[in-house]
Amino acid sequence: MTAPPATENAALKPPLHVLMAGPRGFCAGVDRAIKIVEQAIQKFGAPVYVRHEIVHNKFVVETLETQGAIFVEELDEVPPDAPVVFSAHGVPKSVPAEARRRNMLYLDATCPLVSKVHREAERHQAAGRHILLIGHEGHPEVIGTMGQLPEGTATLVETVEDAEAVQPPEGALAFTTQTTLSVDDTAEIVATLQRRFPHLVGPGKEDICYATTNRQAAVKEIAARSELVVVVGAPNSSNSVRLREVAERAGCPRAVMVQRGRDLDPALADGVSVLGLTAGASAPEVLVDEVLDRLRERFTVTTEEVVVAVEDITFRVPPMQRPGR
Ligand code: SF4
Repeated sequence: MTAPPATENAALKPPLHVLMAGPRGFCAGVDRAIKIVEQAIQKFGAPVYVRHEIVHNKFVVETLETQGAIFVEELDEVPPDAPVVFSAHGVPKSVPAEARRRNMLYLDATCPLVSKVHREAERHQAAGRHILLIGHEGHPEVIGTMGQLPEGTATLVETVEDAEAVQPPEGALAFTTQTTLSVDDTAEIVATLQRRFPHLVGPGKEDICYATTNRQAAVKEIAARSELVVVVGAPNSSNSVRLREVAERAGCPRAVMVQRGRDLDPALADGVSVLGLTAGASAPEVLVDEVLDRLRERFTVTTEEVVVAVEDITFRVPPMQRPGR
């Protein structure tokens, strides 16, 4: 039997309707952090060192590497005369202090919304309040926020169970949160803490940023209508992992995360008529396009944008001067 011509093959592809979450992908903090590295390379020449992945996305990291960025985990891996950029997740105070001590040229790409949490935590501490930091142990943002405070002045709370069990020191109490948590889980943790500690001081709601909140609202919307949700993101990207969890909890039978198009087995969508597609705040749109192309190999794809919020936030890139000197 001879194979049907290509056009006929295309016509035989089953239909797949893709709901595109809006907003999805890059947030203002990620966009700013990437621009800081790019502009540092232009201004100071390659190589520019970056302490930790500038944002949690392999594609972004590899693209910047081709432009002349070198990623390291600690300052002592950076030659004394080379410029170094701190990642969007924020760093403990000890890091810029060490960079200054070594007379290094550094640029801080910490997202302004993470810096805001740092300042908030410092204010609580200065007012004599012990801080309950809601977040995930080991995440760089949590390490950075803890690192704004003297040892022993903050306690990490990861779950509702932790909130039930935590025994902070006597006296005034406050809470702050990581910016990329699940909105629903965090509300439950905060409610538990407020019940146990009625005088707990905190932000109006929590510190979860606009980008995390909007992406979770959008994925909820598409998940309720989809048989499968695909999240473009990295396993170490907190906000991307949360999107997959939120999709499942919103009633979608299956939600998977892929880093890019080639990681997706399009056969996963066999028998699916409506698929939801979104991307974490550190995943560029080009990777969403890759996933669509991958699906087109097997299906006749139609797309529909499902927009729950329009974002117009941008953060200014700081002047490329030598702040560390
Ligand atoms: S996810 Fe939120 S806190 Fe993190 S970089 Fe983006 S805007 Fe900033």
